[in-house]
Amino acid sequence: MKLVGTIPAGRVWDVVDHLSRQGVRVVAPTLVDGLCQFAPVTGAHQVVKDYLLPQNTFKEFLFPKQERVFTWLRRDDGSYVVTEPPRDFPETVILGGRPCDAAAIGVSLKSVFSASASDRWEHADPLFLERFERTTVVCISCDRPDLSCFCTTMGLGPDDPTGSDVLITASGPDGDLVVEVFSPKGERFVERIRPLLITGQSESLLREQRLAAGQEARGRFVRVFDIGQVKAFLDNPENFDDELFQRLGTKCVSCGVCTFECPTCHCFDFKDLGDTTGGERIKVWDSCQFPAFTVHATGHQPRPTQWERYRNRFLCKFKIYEDVFETLGCTGCGRCVRDCPVHVDITSYAMQSHARQVTLLQLKA
Ligand code: SF4
Ligand code: SF4
Repeated sequence: MKLVGTIPAGRVWDVVDHLSRQGVRVVAPTLVDGLCQFAPVTGAHQVVKDYLLPQNTFKEFLFPKQERVFTWLRRDDGSYVVTEPPRDFPETVILGGRPCDAAAIGVSLKSVFSASASDRWEHADPLFLERFERTTVVCISCDRPDLSCFCTTMGLGPDDPTGSDVLITASGPDGDLVVEVFSPKGERFVERIRPLLITGQSESLLREQRLAAGQEARGRFVRVFDIGQVKAFLDNPENFDDELFQRLGTKCVSCGVCTFECPTCHCFDFKDLGDTTGGERIKVWDSCQFPAFTVHATGHQPRPTQWERYRNRFLCKFKIYEDVFETLGCTGCGRCVRDCPVHVDITSYAMQSHARQVTLLQLKA
C-alpha cells in the first residue's frame, strides 16, 4: 500500500471530467430511471454524490448481463465460419465503488472466472479476465452503514482495501480524501489524475487521520453473527434438511433479484439464436432461484421447491464458495436483504444457523 496524497473535499468527482478528457470510460453512481446505479458517466455533474450503495453492482462491466460469444454462418459448400467478436474492451475506471463490492468482484468473482483460483478449476473465462485487466477499481470508503449492511460480520469493513486498486477515504478536520494505492493499475490511475492531487503533507499525520476515520466508521457497524459457526453448521450433512431452511425460504417468490444484484453471483446460461444457416450464441445471466435453472434434460428437477433453491443460494454463499474457491461468497453488501420484495433475509438464515450450531455444541457438551 502506498499513501500518495489527498484530493480536496468536494473535488473527487472532478476525476470524472479529467479521465473522460483522456478517453477513459468512467463508471460511477448516477441516476438511471430514477435509481442510483453504476453506469458510464462523462462529467461530474452526472454523478450522484450522496449515496450509500448503488442498486446494481459494477460486476456488469466485467461480466455483462448478456454478450455475444460467437456467431456461425454456413458457407455454400456446407462448412461453417465461426467468428468471435473483437475483444477491444475499453479502459475503464470504476469510480466510487464500495469496499464490499471491490472484495466481491475483485476477489470472489475473479476466483470463479480465473483458472488460477483452484487446482480443481481448469477453465478461465478470457472475456471476464481481459475486461478485468482493463478495469481499475477506485473505491471510496463508507462512512456509515444502513440497516442491511453487514460487511464487518464478513471480516471486511467500510475502509477495507481488499479488491481495490485505489481506496479514497474522507479524513481529517476538512474531510479531504486520502488516496491509497494498492496495485500497478492504481499507480496508473494516480498518474492520470496527478493534477488533482495534493502531495507533500506529513504522511504520518495523514495515515493517523485516515485510520481514525476508518475506526470511526467501523464503530457504526454491528457484527450480527459468526461466519465460523455458520460454516460449521452447514458443513454437517445432518443439518442439510434442517427445518429452518424450509421455514425461512418458503416465502421466496423466485424473482431472481437477489442473484442479479449480488456482486458474487455469477451463474449464466447460453442461448443459441438462429438456425443451421447462421446464428449467434449469447451468454446471459441466469439465477439459481429460477425453477428452470436446475431442470435436467430428462425433466428431473433436483431442487423441486423454492425453499430448496434458496437453501442452495445460502449454501453457495457460506459454504461452497469457501470450499471450492477458498474465499468469501458474500461480502455483506446487504443488497439482497434490502431489495427482496418479500423480505427474505440472508442474515436471518445466518443468525439462526449460528444459533443452531451453538445449541448443538452445548447439547454435545
Ligand atoms: S429471496 Fe427474495 S429476491 Fe431472492 S429470488 Fe426469492 S423473492 Fe426474489
Ligand atoms: S449474498 Fe446478499 S449481502 Fe451477500 S454479497 Fe450477495 S447481495 Fe450482498
